[in-house]
Amino acid sequence: MFKQIKNFLSSFMLIELIKGMAITGRYFFARKITIQYPEERTPMSPRFRGLHALRRYPNGEERCIACKLCEAVCPAMAITIESEQREDGTRRTTQYDIDLTKCIFCGLCEESCPVDSIVETRIFDYHGEKQGDLLYTKAMLLAVGDKHEKQIAADRATDARYR
Ligand code: SF4
Ligand code: SF4
Repeated sequence: MFKQIKNFLSSFMLIELIKGMAITGRYFFARKITIQYPEERTPMSPRFRGLHALRRYPNGEERCIACKLCEAVCPAMAITIESEQREDGTRRTTQYDIDLTKCIFCGLCEESCPVDSIVETRIFDYHGEKQGDLLYTKAMLLAVGDKHEKQIAADRATDARYR
């Protein structure tokens, strides 16, 4: 009975509404946490696991030696590699595809790479518009690496795993 009277008075005096408005008022003056993406971005870890890239050495040579460790370790079987031996005896890939529709962004490929070739960048705002757009070929992955090498190198310089 006492509880029913209390509920009635609470509703009659709009207590719930006043409590709600108090919370609204508190957040109205509080520091805003909403950001205006894409002009503004939240801080990001140098270990962020976004879009993949294949890196080159400063002389332009591909880092990848076609050892296929990344392909073997990938739990989603998203990586496909074919390779051949060059005239100088070194081995390089003739095909290096990552199917990003299969990838779970676990980072095992970059962890396994002995020459720091396949990496995951900070890029997360990419998309595909038709079937096949998210099958990244070697040329596409190298292009991502070439474009973002400065950021990739800077992130690795701050990461104890790569020192
Ligand atoms: S991040 Fe993980 S799932 Fe994606 S390609 Fe690399 S190993 Fe495979
Ligand atoms: S990206 Fe690294 S792990 Fe994968 S095949 Fe090339 S050298 Fe080996």
